[in-house]
Amino acid sequence: MSHGWGYGASNGPDRWAEDYPIANGPRQSPINIVSKEAQYDPSLKRLKLQYDPSNAKGILNNGHSFQVDFVDDTDSSTLTGGPISGTYRLKQFHFHWGASDERGSEHTVNGVRFPCELHLVHWNTKYPSFGEAADKPDGLAVIGIFLKIVAANPRLQKVLDALDSIKTKGKQTTFSNFDVKTLLPSSLDYWTYDGSLTTPPLLESVTWIVLREPISVSPAQMAKFRSLLFNGEGEAACCMVDNFRPPQLLKGRKNCTLPVCASQRSRRLTQEATDESRCPPRKSSPFGPPVLMLTRTVHGREQFGEYHHLLQEQRLDDGRFQRYFRLSRTQFEYLLPRIGTRIGLRDSNYRRPQ
Ligand SMILES: [Zn+2]
Repeated sequence: MSHGWGYGASNGPDRWAEDYPIANGPRQSPINIVSKEAQYDPSLKRLKLQYDPSNAKGILNNGHSFQVDFVDDTDSSTLTGGPISGTYRLKQFHFHWGASDERGSEHTVNGVRFPCELHLVHWNTKYPSFGEAADKPDGLAVIGIFLKIVAANPRLQKVLDALDSIKTKGKQTTFSNFDVKTLLPSSLDYWTYDGSLTTPPLLESVTWIVLREPISVSPAQMAKFRSLLFNGEGEAACCMVDNFRPPQLLKGRKNCTLPVCASQRSRRLTQEATDESRCPPRKSSPFGPPVLMLTRTVHGREQFGEYHHLLQEQRLDDGRFQRYFRLSRTQFEYLLPRIGTRIGLRDSNYRRPQ
């Protein structure tokens, strides 16, 4: 890759590992999100987004995509809540897209690809700058939003209109007074997992927050994305298309502490949430609502989330509690693949923590 990374046959994602060995690392992005394997995690919070339109600064063709940059020297455009702790500041947003409408997104959902994916990049203010945060495990939080062909999205138009003036690599122009909030879908339900940048240097520093609801785009608007060029001015024209990395292996993340957690909460529900409304019944459960999932170990004890109504507790001689499930065969067969090895098998009707 002597001429640098890109998305072509000679310098594309399959070749990135030559210069960036972390490409084969344990928490690479994007991933295919398998929605039925996502675990509801009641500890996840609602996303809180605050974006100041006056922070928009410029728009740049960086030769891989285009990005809208933001002033980030104060906490005026921030992401808090959700799966992260602390305050993350908006740095830039950019898109990935395909040469045609059947591909282009980086994340996929149950194997389905979208024509485009928007990334809102934020950095953790516990570090002094974006640069310092970018290689820390909790340094970045990126919100991924799918674009789906439905109808023209007027909210995108200001961005798309600016593309004529940044057609080639290295071109930039001012881009001011833009409210990022207008790009968000109505629901902020999300999947989250620990991953990486999807472009070199592929640093494993990103808490991914992938919104479940796509935003709309028209075929004509998608064509506008494809009018950009990878090349610099005066070089042979090369359309900026297919600038996405395909899904990566889950590796160690694919076990019973699944990497992907689904917030089941809509924004509206959360505002007036009761514990029950936060945890809606799963229709797919063969034995009624709500089904609780083993989520994590806190202070050495298993938290069983949605399965709580099935959980029994027994006091041991030394004062500790032992928790176990007493299950019917139907329940057992349903839970077996979902709980996995964290729970030991006592007999065909019992399962309990190991
Ligand atoms: Zn991206």
